Amino acid sequence: MPNPQQALRELPSVEILVKVLTEQCPLPRALITSFVQREINRHRQEILAGATLSRVEIEKDITEQLKTFAASRLQPVINATGVIIHTNLGRSPLGEAAAQTLTEIATGYCNLEFNLPDGNRGKRAGYLETALASLLEAESATAVNNCAAALVLTLRHLCVGEKNEVIVSRSELVEIGGGFRIPEILETSGAKLVEVGATNKTNLNDYAKAITPRTAMILKVHRSNFYIGGFTEEPDVTDIAKLAHENGLPLVEDIGSGAMMNTDELAPIDHEPTPQQALRNGIDLVCFSGDKLLGGPQSGIIAGKKELVEGIKKEPFFRAVRCDKLILTVLQECIDTYLANKSGGGTFGVPALEFISENIENLRERAEKIIAALPEQLRSHCEISNSTARTGGGTMPKSEIPSIAISITPENISVNKLATQLRTGKRAIVGVVDDGKLHLDLRTVFNHQDSALVEALIGIC
Ligand SMILES: *Cc1c(COP(=O)(O)O)cnc(C)c1O
Repeated sequence: MPNPQQALRELPSVEILVKVLTEQCPLPRALITSFVQREINRHRQEILAGATLSRVEIEKDITEQLKTFAASRLQPVINATGVIIHTNLGRSPLGEAAAQTLTEIATGYCNLEFNLPDGNRGKRAGYLETALASLLEAESATAVNNCAAALVLTLRHLCVGEKNEVIVSRSELVEIGGGFRIPEILETSGAKLVEVGATNKTNLNDYAKAITPRTAMILKVHRSNFYIGGFTEEPDVTDIAKLAHENGLPLVEDIGSGAMMNTDELAPIDHEPTPQQALRNGIDLVCFSGDKLLGGPQSGIIAGKKELVEGIKKEPFFRAVRCDKLILTVLQECIDTYLANKSGGGTFGVPALEFISENIENLRERAEKIIAALPEQLRSHCEISNSTARTGGGTMPKSEIPSIAISITPENISVNKLATQLRTGKRAIVGVVDDGKLHLDLRTVFNHQDSALVEALIGIC
């Protein structure tokens, strides 16, 4: 048993270690200092509990921990996974126009709540709300921080006192991910869940039988990230709407991704429901995310009957989840872009849509160019392969988009090591390891990032 007093002498000096690490790591010195102090304290406790690391080992451990911590700082990433709306990589990237306006607004003052013609206090998000309503063909619309907030607000507004029952089909009690489960969202909103039908079958009578004087609303939830098939049945939305309205109840739908256009016209993939169609079908209020297929900033959009939207905006909780000027700016730019191109089709600079519809031959050409730019000995370890891209982000789980990847079989290092090096290099690159190879799917890589791929690969070899 080593003497703890002797072992404690192995602890490195905070000052020296901080000095060395500050040279290696571009983090603020004060942050490195507190990090090192905490880590040394941890090692002290471990030594007192019997651990026997040498000073070199302790220094190496703290250096590794700091590198891992530094890598957790938000930074740009090249997404070579082929998953277009990648939740872990920040969902939808913004288009150039939105990013440019964002800089202008962010670095100065703006008319957030100011009426320029008369110089008086103005209405926040007034322009955006009108533009949204126009695009969505809705009586009224507004935006909050995310779709989860939009749904909670809607439930809080419509479920009052004893009249708080929300009817939902058992086939729609979904978990979206990141802790978003419909039954739990209902519960935290003060609503009482009334499940109807079975997992695979729900009919109109199931809904009708569940209506009582305590019913507040009927809720439909889009099965964003899974699908059911086989012996299934569900009533037409228009029939549910008729039933709801005959009973004086609102019908609300959480449609999740909120595609503005027919996704099946962009690529050979599923048709994702649009809010416009939902409203035409008789839904009174729809909510959806702004940063999925819409390709905007993180936000939750609520659209539908004027009286309902106005009521929601008067909820005290609305204030807690309202959008800030940066989000409003980006969303405004995004919605204007859709409106400007409403009749034209196409993808008009929304990256998520461009990635979905990109021609596979263009991807193949880019792959050839990238490989041709590599040195000979590296080139022989790369091949062009057919891959499968996905929309991701809990949208269209069945859709597979044919894509092209550069597949690398490394020679002197393991494939996992290669993947780690690319993830932790100067510009982080995230690919997919499969079958002993590292695949870099080009469908989610911006054109202008091809040279960074080449540079990173050369750097590693
Ligand atoms: C993604 C999704 C949500 C959550 O949206 P956030 O904007 O992440 O809060 C809610 N409902 C459905 C159906 C979804 O697909």
